[in-house]
Amino acid sequence: MEECLFCKIIKGDIPSNKVYEDDEFLACHDINPAAPIHILVIPKKHIKSLADLEKGDEQLMGKIYGIINKIAEEHNFKQDGYRVIVNCGRNGGQEVMHLHFHVLAGKKLGEKIV
Ligand code: AMP
Ligand code: ZN
Repeated sequence: MEECLFCKIIKGDIPSNKVYEDDEFLACHDINPAAPIHILVIPKKHIKSLADLEKGDEQLMGKIYGIINKIAEEHNFKQDGYRVIVNCGRNGGQEVMHLHFHVLAGKKLGEKIV
């Protein structure tokens, strides 16, 4: 496993505020929340970015939104809604080069780009 920040969190070498874990994913609260609820859903496989998905990763990606809905239900923001963001590469503003899904909730979100 690569020694990137999120790989270290997945290994437990760096502590995180975990909200969900299974064999393939870990979800934790973002250390610098951009909304009242800001959760990161991280596949345990070290995939650098959306642009680095390989054949065979489809199944993994297909599971993400089910996990997000499960978290949304458990944290009581499924009804009110939420936003999912994936930053990809330099122009997308990605800082940690290990694929992760931002889940933002808990208020009416502004700065809608699309
Ligand atoms: P991105 O800019 O899409 O690569 O997002 C990286 C996210 O990781 C940012 O929102 C950071 O606040 C968050 N982050 C960085 N270090 C940690 C950490 N140790 N635990 C939780 N979230 C982190
Ligand atoms: Zn990694």
